[in-house]
Amino acid sequence: MSKREEFLPYNLPLIEEDDIAEVVDSLKSNWITKGPKTAEFEKRFAAYVGAEHAIAVNSCTAALHLSLVAAEIGPGDEVIVPPLTFAASANVAIHVGATPVFADIDPVTMCIDAEKIKEKITPRTKALIPVHIAGHPCRLDEIREIAAAHNLFVLEDAAHAVYTRYKGQRIGATPHAAAFSFYATKNIATGEGGMVTTDDAALAEKIRMMSTHGMSRNAWNRYAAAGSWYYEILYPGYKDNMTDMQAALGLTQLAKLERMQTARREIALKYNEAFSRLPELETPVEQEYATHAWHLYILKLRLEKLNIDRAQFIEELKAAQIGTSVHYIPVHLHPYYRETYGYRRGDFPQSEAVFDRTLSLPLYPKMSERDTEDVIAAVTEIVAKFRKG
Ligand SMILES: *Cc1c(COP(=O)(O)O)cnc(C)c1O
Repeated sequence: MSKREEFLPYNLPLIEEDDIAEVVDSLKSNWITKGPKTAEFEKRFAAYVGAEHAIAVNSCTAALHLSLVAAEIGPGDEVIVPPLTFAASANVAIHVGATPVFADIDPVTMCIDAEKIKEKITPRTKALIPVHIAGHPCRLDEIREIAAAHNLFVLEDAAHAVYTRYKGQRIGATPHAAAFSFYATKNIATGEGGMVTTDDAALAEKIRMMSTHGMSRNAWNRYAAAGSWYYEILYPGYKDNMTDMQAALGLTQLAKLERMQTARREIALKYNEAFSRLPELETPVEQEYATHAWHLYILKLRLEKLNIDRAQFIEELKAAQIGTSVHYIPVHLHPYYRETYGYRRGDFPQSEAVFDRTLSLPLYPKMSERDTEDVIAAVTEIVAKFRKG
């Protein structure tokens, strides 16, 4: 087996001199919490996705939670979520006192299946949280049609979907809400950070207020010379705002997004070309209605054609000095969800099948051509070594 000298991490952010300089500029300006850079990042992000409003917060989890709060989803309500996602997509329903209800995925795109959503709708259903998994968009027309028929709030989990387009339109322009993540591993990385986008002015205003204690007006302006000391609490809100140090990174990362995406796509296409030749592997698709953001490269193993399982495949890659990850452990299989709602294995076969036979390969702009080639060589060798028959 070929082996790299140095371990190739599963993920690294692309932090360059311009990113560092912009953060230093924040520190020197004395605006270290929410200030002018946050306002500028919101403005540019909204323009970039084509949304009327953008509210910067401290995580995608906060973006999801505040959206549910603002949409007045609460106790007694049901929120439909796919099981194949990061737990935050479902946890936020519980945070507002609602019940997460799972609807299985389409095995090809791994996004929530619109037909499965229909089966789960009850008179208590109030919201849908489709997840644009790996950066591939869900079938939004179908989802929006279901939502309109049942008067449901559509909260898009767009943690992977900065750059994603559905039928030519960027994810983020919506009369409901979309929640983005700028966590360290995401396509735009600010360390921790998130954004809500919406075309609904009233919803945007409410989310903004909720993100800073439920204060009656823009708190960041409070200390400026022209600002006044007076404020009112209109609701017992939360403390979820972004800081200017994070927004500094958001601005520089957004400015170089196109370049970073070109690099991601190049790597993904090289993987696709190499792995689609191997019958033991199934490569990710980009449907005709989609522009993929390639946040993750989720490789599916055809286990029936291999002598090893996914866990061993990962061990083999680790031995070749290549980092991987798994997206995701289906949420219904986590102890809290099993114990609270009685879920078990077998409840969502498509999500479970994806979980059992997939791994995510390194995919980030900082990877060199050599890194990409090493991953391709290692995967190809492992398949050759463990192929059946
Ligand atoms: C990363 C992620 C989140 C949470 O993002 P944070 O910014 O870390 O709160 C939510 N949903 C999905 C699908 C994610 O990958």
